[in-house]
Amino acid sequence: MNGFVLHGVSVKPGERCRVDMPITLLSNHVPLHLSVQVLRGQRPGPVLFLSGAVHGDEIIGVEIIRRIGQLKRLHALRGTLLCIPIVNVHGFIGHTRYLPDRRDLNRSFPGSANGSLAARLAHLFLQEVVERSDYGIDIHSAALHRRNLAQIRIAPGDEQLRRLAHSFQAPIVIEAPLRAGSLREAARERGVPVLLFEAGAGLRLDEEDIS
Ligand SMILES: [Zn+2]
Repeated sequence: MNGFVLHGVSVKPGERCRVDMPITLLSNHVPLHLSVQVLRGQRPGPVLFLSGAVHGDEIIGVEIIRRIGQLKRLHALRGTLLCIPIVNVHGFIGHTRYLPDRRDLNRSFPGSANGSLAARLAHLFLQEVVERSDYGIDIHSAALHRRNLAQIRIAPGDEQLRRLAHSFQAPIVIEAPLRAGSLREAARERGVPVLLFEAGAGLRLDEEDIS
């Protein structure tokens, strides 16, 4: 009863479940998946997605989402968390921002069901995660050899996002224009507000940025 259904898998209130959605095969036929942890609270509420490593070398979100998944206070969760610590699996394995064909996933939204690997991954993420969510937080870091002060970026003039950003008591909130083909842009077109959290440097996990 009352199951949250993701990719054919039903998750009941109070349950936690991993849903693996096939993306493609590696050259040795090993399947790669978009892996989503579904955490359902006992009580009803909104659906929030947390995404990391859309750029495969920006690994800070992987650790932040892992720690959020271990929080004891999740027992009081209202609604549903969709945790996707690694969106760009190829880039994460290869320590690179890009997909194997050098496409940038965060310039490939909304994508398509039959396009390039980046287009198909963008399409899958949009359809299965973003369109099932009421809100999202997308976690990035600076590029290699650079470091971003922890900050939240919101679309210019978006009062709802500004209120959300301030509800986290974020010390720095920046209005940043939406890039064409980005996850934030595609989510906004579907009416799903997404905060962009930026902290730290590429291929590094610094405690100060994670906590
Ligand atoms: Zn990024």
